[in-house]
Amino acid sequence: MSAIYHTIVIGSGSGGFTVAVGLTGRGKRVAVIERAFVGGDCTNVGCIPSKTLIHLANERGAADDTAAVFRTVREKRDRLRDEEAEQLRQTKGLDLIFGHARFLDAHRVEVTSAAGERREIGAAHIVIATGSRPRTLDIPGLPAARTLTNERLFEIEEAPPHLAIVGSGSVALEMACALRKLGSAVTILLRGDRVLAKTDPAASAVLGRTLAARGIAVHYGTQPRSYDEATRTLHAAGEGSPVALPGVDRVLLAVGRERNIDDLGLARAGVRYEAGGGIPTDPYGRTNVPHIYAIGDVTPTSHWTHSANAQGRRVVQRIALPYLPALGDAPLYPQATFSDPEVASVGLTAEEIGRRYHPKLIRRVRVELRDLDRGYTDEVGPGFVLVDAVRLTGRILGATIVGPHAGDMITLFTLAIARGLSLYSLYRLVFPYPTLSEGLKKVADAYVRETLPNIPSELGAYLRYRLAPPRRKERHTGRPVPARA
Ligand SMILES: Cc1cc2nc3c(=O)[nH]c(=O)nc-3n(C[C@H](O)[C@H](O)[C@H](O)COP(=O)(O)OP(=O)(O)OC[C@H]3O[C@@H](n4cnc5c(N)ncnc54)[C@H](O)[C@@H]3O)c2cc1C
Repeated sequence: MSAIYHTIVIGSGSGGFTVAVGLTGRGKRVAVIERAFVGGDCTNVGCIPSKTLIHLANERGAADDTAAVFRTVREKRDRLRDEEAEQLRQTKGLDLIFGHARFLDAHRVEVTSAAGERREIGAAHIVIATGSRPRTLDIPGLPAARTLTNERLFEIEEAPPHLAIVGSGSVALEMACALRKLGSAVTILLRGDRVLAKTDPAASAVLGRTLAARGIAVHYGTQPRSYDEATRTLHAAGEGSPVALPGVDRVLLAVGRERNIDDLGLARAGVRYEAGGGIPTDPYGRTNVPHIYAIGDVTPTSHWTHSANAQGRRVVQRIALPYLPALGDAPLYPQATFSDPEVASVGLTAEEIGRRYHPKLIRRVRVELRDLDRGYTDEVGPGFVLVDAVRLTGRILGATIVGPHAGDMITLFTLAIARGLSLYSLYRLVFPYPTLSEGLKKVADAYVRETLPNIPSELGAYLRYRLAPPRRKERHTGRPVPARA
């Protein structure tokens, strides 16, 4: 055994980095093991390069030299990666070890370097923050050189003339919008009947229409079947008639993630995991082995940098500050997709509300951003603020925003839901004028206008439906209260 640490962190991405810096800041001796690049997916092949690409596409548009755009994306990514690696190297009490980590037992880890050298280290605590990788798809005939995932996308020399994207989640939509702005023809193939299937159907509808208006072809209920290199034709099929897309240069696979749990030796440490579901933990990141933690994409509960970071902070508190008051349940994780328009949401989805509550207990309020004065001055396109709240009490259950800065604006709803603030509280809050955040206030106004004059009937509905089981067939209709009385 070469060294004993207070904590070993496997993976230096969003989650691992947080834990490593947090624990060393409290005087603990920490080893961080990284098999690829410091910063993990977010810095290297995720948030940072994708948001840089989106920013440059917005700034420069199609007329620009797209090779320069991709060069800038890589330069900015590399600079941040180097800064982060340097920060870890400079951190007192922290050893950054490059290599692949595998458990030998519940307290010992073997690290194998790229050159094949092995070393063994041990610790009282071990944090698994190994993240995830893109799921792949076999498309017969498609050469590897034409196949992209988020791991290769930012390495391409210039925007492809015609990009086909398989999938319709955040990565697919963000990249579709950015590449289209840079001048690529973009075609999306998706299995289901709406884009961003995990968000509210109202958001999917607006986004679907906006993609079409931007000239992005979307084929619903369709999966790629084969590729013909001679004609560069991607053949696809599904519920509808077969689709042949000629002249496709690259295919971006954005069909979900696989958690990095294989080849970790989890069984040797006794850590329970689910083959397709990652490593389950309690709200403090503890696995079934009390001193072994898991955070970030490798768990079933995190798919974002902010959630990996939040989980990492909880682990730091748990390990280094156990005398502080317990943090309780896992926090709320808002979600944001930086497509154009942006989509952000927090709290329960319409589907979850439909499963838990009687539809007549819920009031759905929607305000269009273009009806706001700032929407008018800025000629804001389709977008809205949408809230599901309990009748009478105004308790906010879920919120979705579509439009510019949706990812920034959702934070107020995160606070409101987390702190149990009602729409009455938002009604009394003063918002700066003219801003798009006034959409949140208009939602509260509409709710109060609908509720206060009708207190007796609202009280009756509340008493009647608050404990009533949801009605299966009549689940949440999604019919909103009009924002203007
Ligand atoms: C294109 C794209 C865009 C995204 N945009 C956003 C966004 O805008 N906002 C957002 O919040 N999230 C975004 N995400 C998601 C975000 O990147 C991830 O949720 C986040 O990086 C997860 O952090 P993590 O620490 O769990 O894992 P990672 O960041 O993936 O880090 C895991 C690290 O562990 C290392 N590792 C794995 N196995 C081993 C091993 N056995 N030994 C040693 N090291 C190992 C890996 O090399 C990696 O460096 C995006 C993702 C993608 C793909």
